[in-house]
Amino acid sequence: MSDDVVLITGGGRGIGAATARLAAARGYRVCVNFRTDEASAAGVVDEIRAAGGTAIAVRADVSRSTEVDRLFQAVDQQLGTLTALVNNAGTLEKQCRLDELDEERLTRIWAANITGPFLCAAAAVRRMSTRYGGSGGAIVNVSSAASRIGSPNEYVDYAASKGALDSMTRGLALEVAAEGIRVNAVRPGLIHTDIHAQGGEPGRVDRVGPQLPMGRGGRPEEIAEGILWLLSPAASYATGAFIDLAGGR
Ligand code: NAP
Repeated sequence: MSDDVVLITGGGRGIGAATARLAAARGYRVCVNFRTDEASAAGVVDEIRAAGGTAIAVRADVSRSTEVDRLFQAVDQQLGTLTALVNNAGTLEKQCRLDELDEERLTRIWAANITGPFLCAAAAVRRMSTRYGGSGGAIVNVSSAASRIGSPNEYVDYAASKGALDSMTRGLALEVAAEGIRVNAVRPGLIHTDIHAQGGEPGRVDRVGPQLPMGRGGRPEEIAEGILWLLSPAASYATGAFIDLAGGR
């Protein structure tokens, strides 16, 4: 049994669930965090256990520091020393123009997509950094092609939140590069998950996919492969790096 322990925020559905399954298959003990959808998170944990792996599901809103503290304590107590964090949890809201956005929506988007990854990264650094007596580790942020494209007429707020995550990826990577922690990001393009329904267009990937350079949307499993590579020793010299997994978009 490997000593690797990974916490995947928003690991019950979509890209997070695919990452949880692949991590377990590669020998990680896995914490599947969720905020509301307990049944999906429990389903992923059941699948991993049925295949002989070790996994737990823990409810926490990653934008709340008390809940993040509780989440990381559950990992400490039930899985052991954290070696990997995937900041995957993220959200978007109905497609609209920037001049239609209100303060409440902006607060929700910044909380889930920026504050959440910051709080989780901080908790991970306090456990992994050699500065705190830790043995190192790896963090992967799940950003988006939106940070490069800006998502006009859809969700500039979401795109900007991923821009902030890109900046955090660079800044934190440099801050902890000599403390045994690698920090990298993947930037998925259009991936078949439920997130597009939240934006008001469940069929968005099927509509836009054919216009992409590769002529199709991506599968969550194709993003999970990039995340697991960045977490692995095979990526030992990668930090502050971005992998664009967007079919050429
Ligand atoms: P998804 O299927 O909608 O899953 C989102 C996950 O995030 C859910 O498990 C949800 O938990 C969790 N979550 C949201 N807010 C949370 C919070 N405050 N605290 C804890 N968990 C929270 O979406 P997805 O497409 O897999 O997205 C995963 C990541 O990939 C996101 O960061 C997204 O921005 C990014 N991404 C997606 C695409 C795409 O085309 N799908 C493209 C680029 C980037 P519950 O299940 O409990 O609700």
